[in-house]
Amino acid sequence: MKTYRIACIPGDGIGKEVVPAGREVLDVIAKASRSFAFDFTSFGWGGDWYREHGEMMPADGLNALRDMDAILFGSAGDPHIPDHITLWGLRLKICQGFDQYANVRPTRILPGIDAPLKRCTPADLDWVIVRENSEGEYSGIGGRAHAGHPIEVATDVSMMTRAGVERIMRFAFRLAQSRPRKLLTVVTKSNAQRHAMVMWDETAVRIAQEFPDVKWDKELVDACTARMVNRPASLDTLVATNLHADILSDLAAALAGSLGIAPTGNIDPERRYPSMFEPIHGSAFDIMGKGLANPIGTFWSCVMMLEHLGESEAARKLMAAIEAVTADAQLHTRDLGGTARTTDVTQAVCARLAG
Ligand code: ATP
Ligand code: MG
Repeated sequence: MKTYRIACIPGDGIGKEVVPAGREVLDVIAKASRSFAFDFTSFGWGGDWYREHGEMMPADGLNALRDMDAILFGSAGDPHIPDHITLWGLRLKICQGFDQYANVRPTRILPGIDAPLKRCTPADLDWVIVRENSEGEYSGIGGRAHAGHPIEVATDVSMMTRAGVERIMRFAFRLAQSRPRKLLTVVTKSNAQRHAMVMWDETAVRIAQEFPDVKWDKELVDACTARMVNRPASLDTLVATNLHADILSDLAAALAGSLGIAPTGNIDPERRYPSMFEPIHGSAFDIMGKGLANPIGTFWSCVMMLEHLGESEAARKLMAAIEAVTADAQLHTRDLGGTARTTDVTQAVCARLAG
């Protein structure tokens, strides 16, 4: 029997509630499969670790993760620690350390979910946003000079490499090719940002030649937000830079009904390192410790993890269990307008899987 080694990093806030819920569900699905098992190792990194050790994770922390088959992550964020420390000290350290350059964000309106666009049916909204996850606006290059003086200057350099753009573009075309509609929208801002974004456009034209069966178009990021609302069915797979896709995927999650549902995978497509799966929501300290967190975003991330591990049958079963549970309004958490608790949703998904 195959045993997958999984690192669990709950992190902060509701991450500490949704990751254990995800682990519970994964345990049940492994038992039901009778063909694979999970060996979980938990890491208590995040804001509490920072208060004790002055860093979000140990300096050699990546070594502890290197031999894992995958990572299940909760969230990093703490109202008492600056955001750039929580983000760069943990999540981005793992993403960049393991060169997880493709951030994949599926969005669909699940059964039973009341989505805000009244003219939009679930059939109209079935997207995957591919976010460049290793360079661009979040490359960390820049600096400040003359701090505190009227002449103070600060820069954040959006650095793009030809190799970096080519690999994410090729990944996106391949993903679009694997989906029924074979449709890709390349999102840039090449009218205003006339260097790196123009290189994106040129790269798209070049890589498209490798995928003659994929239909593709270009969209400016501002126009893309309007198109997502006005013509959702005209989109299928999208690829965008680190910052642009970050914004587009929050919009996408809201259009699909709640931030609490949306999943993501930080993927190393070459499989040199473990990939990391997490809900897209943050630490949500306002609801922390109250049992109100919606665990569906984490469960859907577990579906992506199972697919990545090659357990497609288990992935399909877990997605079916999630959809059966969202279809029942009694099992909606507060973010979906219901009164169900994290444990109710978790137990319902587990019961479906075991039954
Ligand atoms: P961070 O700073 O870590 O991003 P945040 O406080 O901005 O955290 P988010 O997680 O980004 O919080 O979400 C914004 C709001 O959406 C939260 O305040 C919370 O009320 C709601 N929310 C987010 N995720 C969930 C969830 N899984 N279940 C229920 N509500 C959620
Ligand atoms: Mg947030």
